[in-house]
Amino acid sequence: MKKIEIDGLAFELLISSQEISNKVNVLAKRLIAQYQDNWPLCLIVLNGAAVFATDLLKRIGSSCEISVVKAHSYDGLKSTENVTIEYLAYDLIKDRDILLIEDIVDSGLTMTVIKQELLKHGAKNVQCITLLFKPNAYQYDTQPDYIGFVIGNEFVVGYGMDFNEKGRNLASIYKNTLDQN
Ligand code: 5GP
Repeated sequence: MKKIEIDGLAFELLISSQEISNKVNVLAKRLIAQYQDNWPLCLIVLNGAAVFATDLLKRIGSSCEISVVKAHSYDGLKSTENVTIEYLAYDLIKDRDILLIEDIVDSGLTMTVIKQELLKHGAKNVQCITLLFKPNAYQYDTQPDYIGFVIGNEFVVGYGMDFNEKGRNLASIYKNTLDQN
């Protein structure tokens, strides 16, 4: 499936499910080499990172602790420029090394706000892995620690990411064809 339409918006294939699978293997190997027997608390940023995190964490072999943080910043195609943390298990955070698992880092606001919140509540150290990274949109100095694919500023759907809450179930990643980069 090379082209799709969601709510009247056209999308074309950007990253196939096979390419994603290969990348998730590579990222899992990097995490295994990094953490070995000393895994941080893995915090999945919902809703978008649920699919990526499920695939990634199944590949790491050893047992680790998993929780979720639910954050919201996008409205349709646009960032709302403020981030709401709707759920975070605050009792798990204190003195912990934490790995945030993101689907996509765009401006970096969501990752930064969650990191600040975790550190404010006593986290020892916070790292971030993201499947997708948009360097041209990124507005901060410190990049995510682990990056799957670097993409342009195009709006993408699939593999957990939505347009108007649709398209999260697509196995590949598609980009909005109206975006010119
Ligand atoms: P940031 O705060 O870095 O600007 O945006 C992070 C969040 O915005 C992501 O976790 C994701 O929910 C959403 N987001 C950013 N870019 C895209 C995109 O291209 N497609 C979709 N579906 N969501 C995006």
